[in-house]
Amino acid sequence: MEQSILRGMLGLSLILFTSATTFAQGLKVTLLGTGSPIPLVERFGPSTLVEAGTEKLLFDCGRGVPIRLWQLKIPSHEVSAVFFTHLHSDHVAGFPDFWLTGWLPPPFGQRATPLQVYGPIGTQDMMVNLRKAYAADIRIRIADEKVPPQGAAILAHEITEGVVYERNGVKVTAFDVDHGALIKPAFGYRVDYGGHSVVLSGDTRFSENLIRFSKGTDVLLHEVAAAKPELLKVSGDAQRIIGHHTTPEDAGKVFDRVKPKLAVYTHIVLLTTDPAISAPTIEDVTSLTRKTYSGPLEVGQDLMTIEVGATVQVRRPPSAR
Ligand SMILES: [Zn+2]
Ligand SMILES: [Zn+2]
Repeated sequence: MEQSILRGMLGLSLILFTSATTFAQGLKVTLLGTGSPIPLVERFGPSTLVEAGTEKLLFDCGRGVPIRLWQLKIPSHEVSAVFFTHLHSDHVAGFPDFWLTGWLPPPFGQRATPLQVYGPIGTQDMMVNLRKAYAADIRIRIADEKVPPQGAAILAHEITEGVVYERNGVKVTAFDVDHGALIKPAFGYRVDYGGHSVVLSGDTRFSENLIRFSKGTDVLLHEVAAAKPELLKVSGDAQRIIGHHTTPEDAGKVFDRVKPKLAVYTHIVLLTTDPAISAPTIEDVTSLTRKTYSGPLEVGQDLMTIEVGATVQVRRPPSAR
């Protein structure tokens, strides 16, 4: 009896030691959602979790975030802060669910302190108005379920380009990207920890500023959008959408300039607006990228992880192709 308890304790301490060692050495990135507004079961809304030391940082909060977090058995209260790249609905649609589901008492929730949220101008307004939209739920649960009111509080920080977060050895830098004339500001983010770094492009066209802020980074997570040339010839809608994003050829140019240890596609838009013209495939995206970039490249997939330390290791979920 005592021996089995001892064995159990040894097993537990071994696990804790292993995970502490991993995190002390670098960053772990998990793609929670690699999609866009297109409602696909295999690609949830854009969201990326970056774990560094004791920090768990959530970048964007698209459709389905609480589901993906709980697939990882990460309770919402463990997320240290949320960072929005911009306020397009595909990047924030999962936020009310993450915020309020994360406040509930079961193991997936349990947030009892205010949620820290960083984003562009407009973030404060959105948070105030979400609080109004969900006022009945918040009032009822405090009275009925006795959940701590502080767990439903949000501390919103409106940011500009520069270092926006520095805690427990983790530094987050926001930088301006170019998502189109009417979508300003739109941010990308760089996370530095223990001599390693990861850059997230957010939504952007080809951006010189992104290249500047990505210098020397280990991993560059970049959005991509593609449509068949025959669609772009006839559809103004398709031209407009693709015009707000980065084509595979342009993304390849960015990767070629930055030369990260690994380039990863996320926020993958395979567009068609016409039932008669099919959307491009992932293989199309890859081969177009190869016209301008020959370095390491992975096409992101929901729940794919990238461990960034002395080496960069990619793990795909078991169902991966
Ligand atoms: Zn988007
Ligand atoms: Zn957008």
